[in-house]
Amino acid sequence: MKTTNLGFPNVYQSLIKQTVERFWKGAATEKDVQSALAEVMRYNRAAQESLNLIPVGDIDLYDRLLATAVRFGIVPSRFGTPKDAVSSLAVYLSIPRGAEGKPASPMVKWFNTNYHIVQPEIEGDPVWQKDALLPDLSDPRHILSLIGPWTLLSYSINRTSRSLPELFAILASQYSAFINSLPAHTRIQLEEPSFITEGIPQGYEDFLAGVKRPVHLHVYFGAVNDFAERLFSLPVAGIGLDFLDGPGNLSLLPKFPQDKILIAGIVNGHNVWPVSTRSEKILATIRGTIADERLFISPSCSLLHVPLSAEGEAAGFSFALEKLAELSAIKAGDAKYAPFTMQNDALPEERFARKRKTYWVSDIVYPTTTIGSFPQTAEVRKARSDWRAGKMTDADYQRFIEGLIKDCVARQEDLGLDVLVHGEFERNDMVQYFAENFSGFTPIKGPVQSYGTRHVRPPVITGPVSRPQPFTVSWSTYAQSCTRKPMKGMLTGPVTIVKWSFPREDMSPEAQYYEVARALAEEVRDLASAGITHIQIDEPALREALPVDKSERAHYLRHAVNAFRHTFASVPDEVVIHSHMCFSEFTDILDAIREMGTDVLSIEDSKAKGKVAASIRASGFPASIGLGVFDVHSPRLPTVEEMLAIPRSLDLDPHRVWINPDCGLKTRGEEAWTQLGRMMEAVRILRKEWTDTQKSP
Ligand code: GLN
Ligand code: ZN
Repeated sequence: MKTTNLGFPNVYQSLIKQTVERFWKGAATEKDVQSALAEVMRYNRAAQESLNLIPVGDIDLYDRLLATAVRFGIVPSRFGTPKDAVSSLAVYLSIPRGAEGKPASPMVKWFNTNYHIVQPEIEGDPVWQKDALLPDLSDPRHILSLIGPWTLLSYSINRTSRSLPELFAILASQYSAFINSLPAHTRIQLEEPSFITEGIPQGYEDFLAGVKRPVHLHVYFGAVNDFAERLFSLPVAGIGLDFLDGPGNLSLLPKFPQDKILIAGIVNGHNVWPVSTRSEKILATIRGTIADERLFISPSCSLLHVPLSAEGEAAGFSFALEKLAELSAIKAGDAKYAPFTMQNDALPEERFARKRKTYWVSDIVYPTTTIGSFPQTAEVRKARSDWRAGKMTDADYQRFIEGLIKDCVARQEDLGLDVLVHGEFERNDMVQYFAENFSGFTPIKGPVQSYGTRHVRPPVITGPVSRPQPFTVSWSTYAQSCTRKPMKGMLTGPVTIVKWSFPREDMSPEAQYYEVARALAEEVRDLASAGITHIQIDEPALREALPVDKSERAHYLRHAVNAFRHTFASVPDEVVIHSHMCFSEFTDILDAIREMGTDVLSIEDSKAKGKVAASIRASGFPASIGLGVFDVHSPRLPTVEEMLAIPRSLDLDPHRVWINPDCGLKTRGEEAWTQLGRMMEAVRILRKEWTDTQKSP
């Protein structure tokens, strides 16, 4: 039995992040950035010394899919030619970041992980760029890690006139030309997780037949049952399967080809728990069928989804370095497996209905609100860290935050907004804040790459979740005391809290949604008892938590929606429930959205210009929709006309159309107020137009 890996984090000493950020400020050169990358590669290489096969080419300065796309000449022309992107870091890094007058390429979630990739935009035929840098392939233990052509393509935007099969044939020929140019001994680790979602495309056999280097083909994030026969007969040296996200793979072992290597993903690559007896059992079953000479063990997916080292962390977590040590110990036969018993978690099946059966509708036309957070200035962040460090007393901190709330409320009143918010100044992050105030969560220090230079520190669910005492109520009631307009209480929903944490492994995610929902329900109840009549429960992660495996989706959606509804099922009838979701891919979840039972659902619709709202309404959604009319992720000042165009494109009852930004304003600066001012100007025009139509016969 041998060991290998599917990829390593690029966060060592935050070197890449810091150097790239300095490069953007003009304080570091291209050479500095390249040497930061080289240093992290050296560190990673040394850290993986214990493995029999060591992946190289698995990390990038920004995003590996972006790097792969550029290697094959996929570069949006607004940024330059493929040659420019290969030779100039400034051009390369402008693709995900955007530049003056050139919008960035979109970012999307990588399957159902919390990592985001930069979406390749294909405008012409892909052409392999011979000058693109290569990692060190001289060591025969190195294996070149490469995202496969089908996965790259299935994440791409096709702006050409070619069909997908045509594009695949062209891209695949460029892949084989590239691979065949590599030193003769080079092995390739080709990753095709999109087989799970999209199946194997036509022509994959032909592509592989043209590849003259040994290939280990990895399919992870699910089971390969649906296409196992075809997968097993592909002309490759080895096949990598994920036995954790795809337990169904175990039953396929008897059919596994005798002449191929199996790379068995048995250590969870996207969670932080030490390897358990669950993996021990899986491995025993595998070894019952697959001879040790043909067996590699590995993490289930790239370790980029976990932090680097668990040293100095609270409890016995297993991060990237620890997982490698686990693999070595398993190979040596002296692994200490943590005991594993799945908690008995019978899921409540009833629908969690409120007493009130109808939806609350505003008597104002085009009512206005915001999504919750207002700009978090350096001053706010400093006060929070001073307070945490004990350099600021509780009373001073409270007074400071209350000052910000008061000011924020006054400015919202001046603008004429209808439902106000307190601004979320006390929150660092919409999940971390809840994790800190609930019991059952443990914070971590080690960063995980969320995208590009952005690092996050997801809390870990380590025990039963509960809410010891109310924690949002006093901020909300203080804010309400500053105004006679309704003040909206702000909470993060159960699915989002679980999804943006590292969940327990011994409990289904669904059971964890309910646990968090019960804790949230207490906060909702207390907000309502304190006289807060509008409560928003954000679920921005509802869509991304959708299982990769389509057969699991209905079960997920039923319980995600039930858990969400549980949070407000017992509030009095007069309480108006809002929710917010910031994504625009609603197609697969329209029924679930309708079932959520919110009175107002605010969505991100500034980029799709109202199309999302139209499709939600067309699916029979009965309640009010909050149209995100401007993009909060940009400091750009949208024109009043642009914002007007969105509601005007829709034929909807103006009592059920709210006007709001498309997400929280936390990352904005002072310009947020100008943006809101223009939004209110648009609303005044809409209201006048509506009054005029009411007067005319
Ligand atoms: N209420 C949160 C905020 O305004 C929502 C953020 C989100 O949807 N990601 O910041
Ligand atoms: Zn949002």
